[in-house]
Amino acid sequence: MADIEKKTKRYPTDLTDEEWERIRPFLPKPAAKGRKPSVDMREVLNAIRYVARAGCGWRMLPKDFPPWRTVYWWFRRFMRRFLFETIHDVALMIDRERSGREASPSAGVIDSQSVKAREHIEASRWPNGVACPFCGSFDVHRMGGKTQAGMFLCNDCRDKFTCRTGTVMERSHIPLHKWLFAIHLMASSKKGVSAHQLMRNLGIGSYRTAWFLAHRIREAMVDDSHKATGGLGGANKVVEVDETFVGGKAKNRAYREPAPKKAVVSLVEREGRVHSRHVADVTAKTVREIIVTNANRASALMTDDAAIYPAIGREFAGHETVNHSANEYARFGGFAHVNTAENFYSILKRGITGIYHSVSETHLHRYLREFDFRYSNRSGLGIEDAERAAKTLRGVEGKRLTYAQPLNA
Ligand SMILES: [Zn+2]
Repeated sequence: MADIEKKTKRYPTDLTDEEWERIRPFLPKPAAKGRKPSVDMREVLNAIRYVARAGCGWRMLPKDFPPWRTVYWWFRRFMRRFLFETIHDVALMIDRERSGREASPSAGVIDSQSVKAREHIEASRWPNGVACPFCGSFDVHRMGGKTQAGMFLCNDCRDKFTCRTGTVMERSHIPLHKWLFAIHLMASSKKGVSAHQLMRNLGIGSYRTAWFLAHRIREAMVDDSHKATGGLGGANKVVEVDETFVGGKAKNRAYREPAPKKAVVSLVEREGRVHSRHVADVTAKTVREIIVTNANRASALMTDDAAIYPAIGREFAGHETVNHSANEYARFGGFAHVNTAENFYSILKRGITGIYHSVSETHLHRYLREFDFRYSNRSGLGIEDAERAAKTLRGVEGKRLTYAQPLNA
């Protein structure tokens, strides 16, 4: 180390002893066993700082630094671990202490993020002024003093509440800015976000927490507004109905019994929304129930030639079929087809295989809601990522999901 000290201030970018002492605890510890590291980490950091400041290429690194490949290797490794963020925070802390301001800016930064997130959520939830979630009164006031941030008191029922009360965010320990970020990720990723991915991106401590967070956001995405307006479709509109099976292939199971394929029935409004349901069996009885409760009978039904559909079709204004088994995919000059439903299934299946890998039968209905929501609010209908996230946030209202619930529901 002594030779380094001599070299200190060799370049203006070199770490001072004080900076080095602060940064050292964050660096990876050398392995307890095995070969001693031949390279000095302080020199590696000096080299990275030199490159960052001088803007030279890695290969142009002066020869008194460790070999550029070593430095570059460490640089990649630090990047992956978000270590620079930590180091930057520490550097900022030193600067602040020097200029006599309060230390620990990261706490301040997080705090201000939380405040902004809270303001955003409050504005989304109460666009016309804060209303009490218990009695609906507008006669409320924000509590001051030492009460928890964001706490309101209702002057009518004398109950306390925050913007989380009565939403899927209630009693969650996850900071609000992480909620917003998670909602944004899930609303904008076409094929979904795995709980592991959320855990890494948001810095959430456990997989369980991230998994539950994702399920609560799925709950916020539940949208049954079509039922109130007479169902999907309508006069002169087409509703395609199709069924598919999700789940792993039997040939991928070497020893165990193949997992049972899980049937999904979807109603897709052409150029419109979608509603999917998991069914235990694809029979006329179960499928009819779903179709008649979710589609408007004035619409024209499009199905394949499965035997369950003709009887259901007679209840609708029109019914056309395509005979997939005879390789027929469109009739009437391309009017009769279920390709819209097939398109939706291709996204659903790629999401379930590619992102979620396997979805248990217990939770399948929640994943379907997630894919339904994104498809029904797709950019093809003029709804872009930000609006989709805002809509998810509006959907948090009046919903609760407890940890026991997704396990048993
Ligand atoms: Zn009240």
